[in-house]
Amino acid sequence: MKLNDNIQYLKGIGEKRAELFHKLGIFTLGDLLYHLPRGFEDRTNTRNISDLIDGETVCVKGLLASAPRKFRARRGGWVVQTTLSDGTGIMRLTWFNASYIDKSLSDPEAEYMFYGKVGYRNMAAEMINPVIEKLEAEGGGAKKMGMIVPIYPATAGLNQRGIRDAVKRALENLTESIPEILPESVRARNDLVGINEAIRRVHEPEDFDEFYKARRRLVFEEFLKLQLGVSTVKSVKKARKAAVIEDVKCIAEFARGLSFDLTRAQKKVINEIAADLKSGVPMNRLVQGDVGSGKTIVAAAAMFAVSRGGFQSAMMAPTEILAEQHYKTLKACFDPWGIKVAFLSGGQTAKEREANIELIESGEAAVTVGTHAVITDKVNFKNLVLSITDEQHRFGVGQRSKLISKGMNVHTLVMTATPIPRTLSLVIYGDLDISIIDELPPGRKPVKTLALTEAQRPRLYDFVLRELNRGRQAYFVCALVEDSDAVEAKAASEYVKKLSRGVLAGRSVGLLHGRMKTSEKEDVMRRFAAGEIEALVATTVIEVGVDVPNATIMVIENAERFGLSQLHQLRGRVGRGADQAYCVMFGNTKSGVAKERMQVMCETNDGFKISEKDLEIRGPGEFFGTRQHGLPEMKIGNFFTDMEILKETQSEAAEILKSDPFLSAPEHKLLLDSITKTFAKAGDILN
Ligand code: ADP
Ligand code: MG
Repeated sequence: MKLNDNIQYLKGIGEKRAELFHKLGIFTLGDLLYHLPRGFEDRTNTRNISDLIDGETVCVKGLLASAPRKFRARRGGWVVQTTLSDGTGIMRLTWFNASYIDKSLSDPEAEYMFYGKVGYRNMAAEMINPVIEKLEAEGGGAKKMGMIVPIYPATAGLNQRGIRDAVKRALENLTESIPEILPESVRARNDLVGINEAIRRVHEPEDFDEFYKARRRLVFEEFLKLQLGVSTVKSVKKARKAAVIEDVKCIAEFARGLSFDLTRAQKKVINEIAADLKSGVPMNRLVQGDVGSGKTIVAAAAMFAVSRGGFQSAMMAPTEILAEQHYKTLKACFDPWGIKVAFLSGGQTAKEREANIELIESGEAAVTVGTHAVITDKVNFKNLVLSITDEQHRFGVGQRSKLISKGMNVHTLVMTATPIPRTLSLVIYGDLDISIIDELPPGRKPVKTLALTEAQRPRLYDFVLRELNRGRQAYFVCALVEDSDAVEAKAASEYVKKLSRGVLAGRSVGLLHGRMKTSEKEDVMRRFAAGEIEALVATTVIEVGVDVPNATIMVIENAERFGLSQLHQLRGRVGRGADQAYCVMFGNTKSGVAKERMQVMCETNDGFKISEKDLEIRGPGEFFGTRQHGLPEMKIGNFFTDMEILKETQSEAAEILKSDPFLSAPEHKLLLDSITKTFAKAGDILN
C-alpha cells in the first residue's frame, strides 16, 4: 500500500471504523503513521511476585492459582477476579466492568502474563484491570509483553489496541518509503535518524534507546517546522511595505509634556518602536512588561507620532473597564495637543457609537480606543496605520488580525504583562520582535503579600480600616464560583452585603461585576478613581489593567480558585503609587498546587519568575492554548520537557534561514511544502 491510500482499505478497517480514525484526523495510511505516540508503556520489566513494589507498573508471569470468579458488583457491572501464582508468591487480579474477561482466562494449564500497576491491600499484592496475555506453549513468547508499547491519542470507540493493530498492519503493508523532508546536512549536523527508521521505531521500538532516538528525530522535525514557519512568516511580513512616519523625534516633545519622567526601559522600548515606524517595514512588535511597568504611555507615545504624521491608530483592550480607563488616559494625554480620541464599546448607546464611528471614518479622530467593538464590520478607518492590542493574551489571534485588517500593512504593537522564557517566546511569538520593559517607575515598593487564615481575619480588618482612615483605598475580590457571570455577580452582591454590614459598615463601598450596565460600571469606576468610593468589591472584571494608584490593599477571597498569573494580575492593581501596598489572600485549601501558588505569590513580586513557575505548575499545554496563538498543535513535542530539542531547532532554523531565508532552495522544497501544510491546518498566524 501507498502512503496516500485511504485508511479504509487497510485490513481490519472498514467504512465504519475508518470514521473513527477520521475523528483523529487520520484519513490516509501516511496520516496513520504520523499519528505519533504521546507516551509509552514500559512492559519490559518482569518481576517476581515476591519482589513487587507498591505503585510500580510491571509485568508478572505465572499460572492461575484459582479459577476466575465472575459476579455482579453492587453498582451493577461485572467483576472478574482470580489469583496468580509464580512460585514466589500469590497476587490477586481484579477486573471491573469486564463481562468478557473470564473468557480470556479460561485455560487452567496455560501460563499467563499480566501488565498493570501494583497495589497492596491487606498485605497482599494486587492488580486492577491489568492487560492480559496468554503465552503460547510452543515457545511463541509474549506478543504484548516484554516490550515498549506506544500509547496513542485515542477516541471514543477506538482504543489503544485498535490503533496499535492498525499501525502494525500499516507498517507491514507499506510498500513505498516515506519522503525525507530533512536534508542530509541537517540530519548530519544534529545526529538525527532517517524518517523511515524514526517512524518505524517510534511505533515499534526494540529498546528505549531506539525509542528515544526515533522520538527525538520526530520532535526535532516538528519543532524545526514550527520555528521555520514562524520565522518565515516574519520574513514575509518584513518584505511588505508600511506607512513611513518621518518625524518620530516629536515623541520627545510629547514626553516633556508628561507629569513624570519616562523610565530608562520605557525610553528604550519607545526608541525601538520609533525605529520601526520610520523604517517603511511593518512593525510587528510585542511589548512585554510586568504589571505597572507603564506600557500604556509607551503605546501613547507611538500613537502620538502616528497622529503627527497625519495617520490614525487604534488600541483595543479586553474589558470595558480597561478600555474606558485607557480612553481617559489617552484623552488626557492628547487633548492638550488637539488630537481627537474616539471611543467604542459594546455598552454605548447607538447614538454615541454612530457619532464615534463618524469621527473615525472622517479621519477627524486620529486615535481610537475601545473594546472588541473596534473590530466590528461597521467601523471603517480613513487611514489606520497602527494597531495596538493591550493584554493580548486575552484575545484570540483572529481578533488581533481583524484589527490589523482594518488598515493596509499596518504597524502592529501587542502588549502583555505575561512574560515568558525567551526560548518559548521565540516560538510563541516567533513572528514578532520583542521589546521588554524591565523596570518599574521609580519609588515603587514591592507589594507585601500574605496568605492569611480565618483566625487572622479580624486583625486584617483592623488594618484595612486604619488604611482607609489614612485616606487609602481597598479592593475586595471574590473568586469565580462557577464559570458563569450570573453566579459570579450574585456571589459578589452577597459578599458586598456581608462586608457592608460588618467591617465596612458606615464606609462608602462600591460593587463592580460583569453583569452591570456599562454606565453603572463607568460610574463606579469613576467614583473609585476619584476616591469617593473607599472600598471596591469586585469580581475578576478588575483583573487586568485597572489603574488607581491610591488603592493600597487588595484582599483576595478564595485565592485557591485563581491561577498564578491571575493572582499576579490582581495584585498588580495595587502598588501603583509611592505608598506601601498589601495583597492579602484567603485560601481555604488542602490542594498542594493551590498552596504552592499562594506560596510563590508570597515569595516574589517578579512577573517573570511567576510566569515561569506558572508554566512549571500548569504545564505548557494549558499555559498557552495553541488556539490563542494560532500555532499548529504539537503532536509529539512538548515545549517544556523537550526544551533542549527546542533550543537545538532554534539554532538550526537560524542556520538554515541564513543561507535560504524563504526556503526556496531545491533541497528545502519538501520541508517548505510540509511547513505550509502544517500551518494551513492551524489556520493561523499567516492571516
Ligand atoms: P501597565 O504596564 O500595567 O499597563 P500602566 O501603563 O497602567 O501599567 O501604568 C501604571 C501606572 O504607572 C500609571 O498610573 C501610569 O501613569 C504610571 N506611570 C507610567 N510610567 C511612569 C513613569 N515613568 N513614572 C511614574 N509613573 C509612571
Ligand atoms: Mg496595562
